[in-house]
Amino acid sequence: MTTYHIWTVGCQMNKADSERLASGLEQLGLSECDDPRSADVVVLNTCVVRQSAEDTATGMLGALKKCKDADPQRRIAVMGCMVGPTTDDLRRRFPQVDAWARPQEFEPILKMAGETVGIDPDGCIRELLPADPKVATFIPIIHGCDKFCSFCIIPYRRGREVSRPIDELVHETEMLVERGVREVTLLGQNVDSYGHDLEPVHDLADLLCAVNEVDGLDRVRFLTSHPSDMSEKIIRAVGELPKVCENINLPFQAGDDDVLERMRRGYTRDEYLRKIDEVRSIIPDVALVTDVIVGFSGETEPQFQRTLDILKTVRFDKVHSAAYSVRPGTIAARQHPDTVPVEEKKRRLAELNALQEGICAEINADLSGREFDVLIDGHSKGKLQGRTRTDKLVYLENSETFETRIGGFATARITGTSPWSLRAEVTATETLAAGDRLRVYSA
Ligand code: SF4
Repeated sequence: MTTYHIWTVGCQMNKADSERLASGLEQLGLSECDDPRSADVVVLNTCVVRQSAEDTATGMLGALKKCKDADPQRRIAVMGCMVGPTTDDLRRRFPQVDAWARPQEFEPILKMAGETVGIDPDGCIRELLPADPKVATFIPIIHGCDKFCSFCIIPYRRGREVSRPIDELVHETEMLVERGVREVTLLGQNVDSYGHDLEPVHDLADLLCAVNEVDGLDRVRFLTSHPSDMSEKIIRAVGELPKVCENINLPFQAGDDDVLERMRRGYTRDEYLRKIDEVRSIIPDVALVTDVIVGFSGETEPQFQRTLDILKTVRFDKVHSAAYSVRPGTIAARQHPDTVPVEEKKRRLAELNALQEGICAEINADLSGREFDVLIDGHSKGKLQGRTRTDKLVYLENSETFETRIGGFATARITGTSPWSLRAEVTATETLAAGDRLRVYSA
């Protein structure tokens, strides 16, 4: 049996790509293998957002070269953001690699794998969709990014924005639902700019309306938004469509206008805060998530404090924080010297994280005693776990006394909280009526 192993790092877009590639490899008759050193076909799905991620991938390529030297029949492929528009330099540096593929470019790898098993993938591969998807799964809807933030390498590697047609995405959602999916997250580097390149032009709100109509689907989310492109129409769609979860990830990155300008983010602090007000006026129960970078080129202590002010003002449910590190090839690497010392970046990051931990603890403590619908998506330390519509991680304390299962819904009352998760007792769950859709009943 010919085996494959896909090594994946980076964002949810990469994870979604790996699931789709695995589907193609399995349609060619390959089977998954846990160990990259013994698989016949090894694919590295790479990330370059940070130099360290790219260095990890090149380290893996060094280790795989030894495996290939011992067995020249093995095949190695690299996909993802490490592969830019041209591969000449990469081919020179890594002659052990048999196939290179940009994000969402599956054909070179399927062709290479097809050769190892003597099958031409043309015409014998159906849709690239996971055969056994998780109950909450991801669907890439727009590739690339046109924003060119000064610190970010993504637009150079993933290219300009290209949206997938609405019909195709609805069909894909329907097929995933047939395979047991109940929640989809629509993915894009800048998901709010979805559809501007389609003919006729559409937007994310149109897509949310269409996906909301898919029978059997229970929840829809989307990632990641850009404050300049999140229109009132999109916000209203989130507020009005019953399946679209009231959970928005809206990165602000920095709280000071000069820093935002050097980052080329395209909005000011006040414009960002007005957008938050607009979101909250239309979706009062919204859970807000954001991304922040501390220690960007030239960031002074007062400027950093303005970032903390935004955390205190908005009180996000979750913050993804990072200390700035220079990414070669970006505008910032050329134009903005990395002036904040590493130790100072670490201190700022720790201060920001401590502040946010306190905010998360207070927000979650307020949920104590309330009931939420939880989609059960896994287990940990003997307990089932799931997510609320607002994406809170919930551990179910007494699930063994109910008909709970991964892939089902439970109603749960919050009994304990921490900054990162909730504990809850199940008060009702759903059961399968023969041949019917799942139904909720009270215990
Ligand atoms: S919006 Fe900015 S940070 Fe996000 S992918 Fe595009 S260029 Fe990078």
